[in-house]
Amino acid sequence: MFSLLAITLAMFTHDAHATPPTPSGSKLSMASEEINPCQIPVYVNLAGVSNELYPIYSKAIYDAALTWNTAGAGLRFRVRDWNYTGDRKDGAVSVVYTEIDPVNNRIIGYTHRLPSTGSHTIQRARVQINSTDPYCTQPGQTGCYEMFNVVLHELGHALGLPHSDDPSDVMTLHVKINESRRTLSAADIHAVRSRFPLNGAGCEGQEESFAWSKRL
Ligand SMILES: [Zn+2]
Repeated sequence: MFSLLAITLAMFTHDAHATPPTPSGSKLSMASEEINPCQIPVYVNLAGVSNELYPIYSKAIYDAALTWNTAGAGLRFRVRDWNYTGDRKDGAVSVVYTEIDPVNNRIIGYTHRLPSTGSHTIQRARVQINSTDPYCTQPGQTGCYEMFNVVLHELGHALGLPHSDDPSDVMTLHVKINESRRTLSAADIHAVRSRFPLNGAGCEGQEESFAWSKRL
């Protein structure tokens, strides 16, 4: 029964005709500001996550960002925890673990982003991961979703990628319980390389970095 369950990975931009779920927390302001695609800060807010799950979830998010970094495209995510102060948080992508879609519970991930103004640009985005869904915490576990898969998909939206009709792509519309997808498909890689081409030197020398604090 559970294996048939699939829930939607949603995308909403201001220019899309989609009805967003009721967002919790603050909305993005409408101010447009481009982010250097070779230095995309990703701020992660895992408030409410237990100390036991915190390192597991943070690693899943980090691994998802790293996967896009290694796609051979002109982009680099730089993962920071919410307390990091080295970048401007209001000029970044945020990933927030929070309750979304509480009425229908059909959406596991949701990305609110400002429309990009051209190719090879990225705007601020807010990714929400539904805290009411069960996430896997160890290999081989059943009855749960892979947070890595959900974040990988939503970061794709943050990069401006649309949905795919092919269920073998990360950017497909649904994620199934017990489904683990660890790699980008050829179509995913083509999409992100098309959007962020390696112009000249690309992002060389802008290697992905990880700034994380320990919980007290
Ligand atoms: Zn989606």
